[in-house]
Amino acid sequence: MAGAMHGPKVKTVTSPFNFDNTYARLGSNYSQPQNPSAVVAPKWIAWNDPLAERLGWPNDWRQNDKVLAALAGNTHLPGANPVAAVYAGHQFGSYNPQLGDGRAVLLGELIAPDGARFDVQLKGSGPTPFSRGGDGRSPMGPVVREYLVSEAMSALGVPTSRALAAVATGEPVYRNQAEPGAVLTRIASSHLRIGNVQFFAMSQGGEGLSELVNYTVSRHFPEALTLAIAANPNATAAGVLLDKVGQALASLVAQWQGLGFIHGVLNTDNMLLCGETIDYGPCAFMDDYDSGKVFSAIDAQGRYAYRNQPGIVHWNLSVLAQCLLPLLHEDTDTALGLAQASVDRFPEQFGAIHEAILAAKFGFDAFSTNDRPLVDQFFRTLSDDKADLTLAFRWLTEQASGDFDHSPLPELFEPSANLLSWQGDWQDRRDRNKAPSEQSIGSMQRSNPTVIPRNHQIAQAIADAERNNFETLHKLNKRWQNPFAWQSGDNILAAPPIAEEVVQRTFCGT
Ligand code: AMP
Ligand code: MG
Repeated sequence: MAGAMHGPKVKTVTSPFNFDNTYARLGSNYSQPQNPSAVVAPKWIAWNDPLAERLGWPNDWRQNDKVLAALAGNTHLPGANPVAAVYAGHQFGSYNPQLGDGRAVLLGELIAPDGARFDVQLKGSGPTPFSRGGDGRSPMGPVVREYLVSEAMSALGVPTSRALAAVATGEPVYRNQAEPGAVLTRIASSHLRIGNVQFFAMSQGGEGLSELVNYTVSRHFPEALTLAIAANPNATAAGVLLDKVGQALASLVAQWQGLGFIHGVLNTDNMLLCGETIDYGPCAFMDDYDSGKVFSAIDAQGRYAYRNQPGIVHWNLSVLAQCLLPLLHEDTDTALGLAQASVDRFPEQFGAIHEAILAAKFGFDAFSTNDRPLVDQFFRTLSDDKADLTLAFRWLTEQASGDFDHSPLPELFEPSANLLSWQGDWQDRRDRNKAPSEQSIGSMQRSNPTVIPRNHQIAQAIADAERNNFETLHKLNKRWQNPFAWQSGDNILAAPPIAEEVVQRTFCGT
């Protein structure tokens, strides 16, 4: 790939930004220089002050016109070196040898005041060499969804890419109809995906692979590599990468399962190596519990249904393992054995974290295999009753704590006769806890949210935003920043959708 600059020339605005663009410096095998395309009439949709603070964004740069212009793609942030990265990926199980940032540019890596490094990416900022005929743009709807859900996910304590800002472009984007366009400023520890590794291992026959693996490990897992080499001089960066990604993804998918989150498109290009949630396309949190729930309009087979997520993430990890084989050991059989052993640890790692999450949610001081039938019975009951997953766990929390202060639950959730009869067995089990009950009650209160980003609420925020009204977005975003306590107004904000409000399918909005 040649290193020619694409897109119109842009002015540079001066301000002290601490950018260091190591990924861009890896060179043209890994990314292409790419300026964002300018837009006609940028306007603020949302700006995330706490995140800007975290990043050390200069005070006088918050939400002013220069920042607006830069985050719309019309001007250059000082120190940024915009590029579009190349990657590949298995999409719904089929290998696509070349994808890449088709509607995003990485502005650069911003170094926060504490030294932490974050990718700053504009999403929806125009075509790149990897757009494959797409317009590189994003309609308002997906930008609003990603802003709301990624910030709610972060407040729920789950590793995720973040939303620093959303701006309207003042230009239409043409999908089935003309829709208003928008650009999201996305922040992540990095945007390196399983798909980046696949591109070099599978599409390029291994050329450039070890540089990418070394880069990723030194960026995300440097201590793990030092420890691994201290324990075993034959340890490799590839082995460390596989182990650490396996652990991070096992933990991530266990957290999603605990909250009823369905990602929607668990393709290998949507799995970050740093273990943060990315790509809030056709995703949703479940309302009523149904383990077979699918939201994505393009997932006709239900490949990415709720109950399939752990198995799919495990499969994605096996794809990464296969890519790393030549770097794990020069002897093919030894490499295979190492890869298999690492991948085989995933179910146990997932199971242990998921059980710890369930123990916290049910108020058990530890999870034992004897608890399985009781837990299974709870989920069966919710499924039969079509009961709301989030409210059922919060009801349980209040049964344990006896604290009904400000709780709108009596208005929102009525336990069925079956659930009430199950409650007796659950109480008996809690009576056998060894730790003091304040401890398990605290765990329940911290792991069973009162509010989650519900699909029908997001749909409302999107519909309003498309009419240039961002109040719903701001109201919901504010509420979801504090998801583990009740607030006034929750009789509405914590309520599941009524029948007419239920959203069955969501779209990528590409
Ligand atoms: P996604 O479904 O969002 O994971 O996107 C899959 C691939 O398609 C990625 O490589 C995207 O960059 C690319 N893509 C999605 N939408 C567009 C678009 N409007 N223009 C160009 N590329 C796109
Ligand atoms: Mg994607």
